[in-house]
Order: sequence, then structure tokens, then C-alpha cells
Amino acid sequence: MTTHKARILIVDDEPINIRILHKALADDYVILAATSGAEGIAVAERERPSLILLDVVMPEMDGYEVCRRLKANPQTADVPVIFVTAMSNVADEATGLEAGAIDYLTKPISAPIVRLRIRNQLELKHYRDMLVELSFQDGLTGIPNRRRFDTHLATEWKRSARLNGPLSLLLIDIDHFKLYNDHYGHIAGDDCLRRVAQALKASTHRPTDLVARYGGEEFACILPETGADGAEAIAHHMQDAVRTLAIPHARSLVSTQVTISLGLASCVAEGDTGRAEDLIRRADAALYAAKLGGRNRLERE
Ligand code: GH3
Ligand code: MG
Ligand code: MG
Repeated sequence: MTTHKARILIVDDEPINIRILHKALADDYVILAATSGAEGIAVAERERPSLILLDVVMPEMDGYEVCRRLKANPQTADVPVIFVTAMSNVADEATGLEAGAIDYLTKPISAPIVRLRIRNQLELKHYRDMLVELSFQDGLTGIPNRRRFDTHLATEWKRSARLNGPLSLLLIDIDHFKLYNDHYGHIAGDDCLRRVAQALKASTHRPTDLVARYGGEEFACILPETGADGAEAIAHHMQDAVRTLAIPHARSLVSTQVTISLGLASCVAEGDTGRAEDLIRRADAALYAAKLGGRNRLERE
């Protein structure tokens, strides 16, 4: 197993300070360096370091301003910033914390303390990231949840509107799943949901495609830059993938194994993200038609 070293960006106009910090940290981290605020911002955007050590007193742009700009930029906002400052500047600590820094180190620096502070902050960052990750994930199936679906649809809606490109949505519902639970029990039902979720997810390929658990035994799939024909192809992949799982369903009224019904709607987005609800409604109407038409099928609006 390869362990990836965290990357730390040191921003300081005095090369000697960079060398001292480098010496303290180079064994444990990959070190990036910049000798001005502007360069620091550019490197932070490009390299997405795990943490930034930022000098306060620098010519042209001081550390506070650099920090404010990093925090105002969505690309760098969540990178923790630790100020490195001379003892005499500690009175300005509040200014730094207000600018968004999470900690202070004073010069002359002590290598063991720098190492411990950084380790602690990286650990906190790790847990923060994990919480964010979990809050967008469905606990049962491990795939994205409804919340993630909503934000992704809003993002892709805006992109579709901007680029005038197609956007498709699939709503997918397991057929006669109540009967499945009644017959095999809830534990087996949960297991079935997990397997179907993975099969649906494996049927999409682009990084911007998203399969989410939409509710109970219902899933939703966002397909950006995909028209109705492309989305129909994905829908058939999904049906095949679920068929390949070959999960027995003795009580199903439409097959001997678990099947899905799908509703498909496509559009080129227009207007604000609130209008995305129309697309959901249309896909839902198509799904309803698929159910009425006999289940185990795809219906296009
Ligand atoms: P249809 O073909 O019309 O979709 O019939 P259905 O039985 O699948 O639909 P219905 O909406 O009547 O029932 C959905 C069932 O899904 C009821 C509920 O017990 C089950 N369900 C929802 N969430 C979960 C879950 O997290 N775990 C399990 N095991 N079952 C769930
Ligand atoms: Mg169902
Ligand atoms: Mg349902």
C-alpha cells in the first residue's frame, strides 16, 4: 500500500524561513513553497495543498489579505491556514483569526511544536472532510443521498442553461418491493437495495453522471450533456445490470426476479434552478406511466 504524504504549502518572502520550516517538515510531508502572497494564492489554487503555513508580514500583499482571498475563493476556502508570525505581532492574532486562519505559530519556530500543531490540524481536517462526505451519502447503500442529488442537479441545471446543452434525468423504482420485503424480510430487502444501488451506479461512466438514492426503494440518475437517446441507452444498461443480479423475487407479479421501472425526461435547462423541479415531475410522470404500463420497463415522457 502506498501512503500519500499530505502536501503543505509554505508562503514566506524570506527564503531562510522557508528552509527552516522545510527542514522541520520534509520527512513527513511534501513541501510546496511560494515567496509572495500572489504566488501563494496561485500555487494554492493549482496544487490544492492539505494545509498552508502563511507568513503575516510580506511586501505587496500581507498574510491577512492572502488569507482573506483564499477563504473567499471556493477552490481554496476549505484549506486550513496557519499563520506564522514573529512574537511581536501576536497582538494581531484576532485579525488573523477573523481572516479565517485556524491557528498561529510564532517565530522563532520550534520544530516539534510545528510538527504537532500541523498533525493536529490535519487530523481535524480529515474528520471535517469525513463529516461532509457522510452528510451527502446514503447510510444504507453508500451511494449519494437525496441532498447530494439536489445540489448536483442544481449545478448541472446551471451548466446546461449556460452551455445550452441537454440534461437528462432517470427515476428508477424497484417493482413490487413491498412484496419482496413481506416475503424475504427487511434485512434481505436492505441487501437487495444495496445490490441494486451498485448495479445502477456501475451502469454510468462519466464523472458528472450521478446515481443517488432518492427515497425508499427509488433511485435517481442525473445525466449531464446527455439527450433522451443517450439516456435511454443508460436506462437499458441499468435494466440489464439488475437482470444480471438475478435476485429471486417469488412474489413479483411481473417476473421471477427483482426488476425495475424507469421514467426518463430530458431538457435543455432554462431559467433558474427552481425550474429543475419540472424535470423531476416529468420523469416522475414517465415512471408512473411505466408502472401503469405493466412495470419492468422504461417509459420516455
Ligand atoms: P411498485 O411496483 O408499484 O413500485 O410497488 P412497491 O411495492 O415497490 O411500492 P410501494 O411504494 O408500495 O412500496 C415500497 C416499499 O419499499 C415499502 C417499503 O417497505 C420498502 N422500503 C422502503 N425503504 C426501504 C428500506 O430502506 N429497506 C427496506 N428493506 N425496504 C424499504
Ligand atoms: Mg417500488
Ligand atoms: Mg416507490
